[in-house]
Amino acid sequence: MTFSALKLSVPLLRAIVEKGYEKPTPIQIAAIPAALRGADVWASAQTGSGKTAAFALPLLQRLAAGRRPPGRFVRALILVPTRELAAQIGESIRRYGRFLAEPIKTLVVYGGVSINPQMMALGGGADIIVATPGRLLDLMEHNAVSLSAVAVLVLDEADRLLALGFADELARIVAQLPTQRQTLLFSATFPPEVDALAKNLLRDPVRVAVASTAEPPPDIEQRAIEVDAPRRTQLLRHLIQTHGWARVLVFVATKYATEHVADKLRRAGLAADALHGELSQGARTDALADFKAAKTHVLVATDLAARGLDIVDLPVVVNFDLPRSATDYTHRIGRTGRAGARGIAVNFITAETHAHFRLIEKRNKLALAREQIAGFEPEAIEAPLTAPATGGIKGKRKSKKDRFREALARESSETGD
Ligand code: AMP
Repeated sequence: MTFSALKLSVPLLRAIVEKGYEKPTPIQIAAIPAALRGADVWASAQTGSGKTAAFALPLLQRLAAGRRPPGRFVRALILVPTRELAAQIGESIRRYGRFLAEPIKTLVVYGGVSINPQMMALGGGADIIVATPGRLLDLMEHNAVSLSAVAVLVLDEADRLLALGFADELARIVAQLPTQRQTLLFSATFPPEVDALAKNLLRDPVRVAVASTAEPPPDIEQRAIEVDAPRRTQLLRHLIQTHGWARVLVFVATKYATEHVADKLRRAGLAADALHGELSQGARTDALADFKAAKTHVLVATDLAARGLDIVDLPVVVNFDLPRSATDYTHRIGRTGRAGARGIAVNFITAETHAHFRLIEKRNKLALAREQIAGFEPEAIEAPLTAPATGGIKGKRKSKKDRFREALARESSETGD
């Protein structure tokens, strides 16, 4: 199967060649013809499957064939759970659309940064808006945008949108959209709430499922290394040096741990940085840009910060702290081995987390051999199962982040971990 067989237009095919894609991924083969026909699509797809192009290419083709009405109208709306994902999708759309005869005005809007430039940019409308729900509602309340001409709605990572508590925001946004429209819904998992949302929003959809949701992509070598908790940083350093890993994404449980571990690695002479949700947007963007540009070699992150990130050429992911749930495990290790590249996912198993890791394995139908590294053999013995640290904030009003943590905790209990 080739991209041209999917009946994509010449300017889009040119952009695909320029991106270096040789053939469409399974989700693209399944979703692009349906989306080009104007059908609704209900797709189960992980990040890394090529899902962005699966909705962005047909969307661009459709928009290129028509015109935007004058005024504050928007022709297509892409809703996503996080700012990083919004930025990433905006960037992909610009790349895919760059050879189109008429430019497709694409705006990315999210919270945590000043609203004024976004309001200014929306003057005269836009062809595509990629948005997080909260900020889009703010813009709607300021009359900065009208959704009455939206012809295509895309919900990306719908499960995350709901897990983050965006159900009300989604309902308020959808109420403003024309009922005559195309809707494309992508989700890695389909818990009952997502099913209900899909049934409510989609009309006679084409169902597309390319990979079982619980199984990680096949090209990832997964390892489980036993180590005493206090020696994990040293072991990490040792592994990075002995294997010559050029770029490593390290997951820890808390914001504090990101700073602490990054600091210890820096003191050991490694170019390391921290990424967590409480950094300013500027600091997050910089940390990510430095990592992508190989200025930093190790990025120590929380789940929140790393969700949906697409870092090309990321050979290694390390679970310094184990994820809370089996689903999070899949998300985390899916950061590597993307679009056919090989990746390595390393899990550090300490005395406290043996039992927790066994649950993750059971859920994901895995059985990894336990390894010990010479010089780092653990002395501590296995402890009974305890919940991993959550890093919650006490004595404060419920913030958005507290809601997020609660949602994560709920998700963990749903998966039985
Ligand atoms: P996504 O699942 O949309 O986050 O895409 C994951 C990665 O796969 C991105 O780096 C894309 O640029 C890349 N990609 C998407 N489609 C293809 C393709 N057909 N061939 C090779 N790489 C692709």
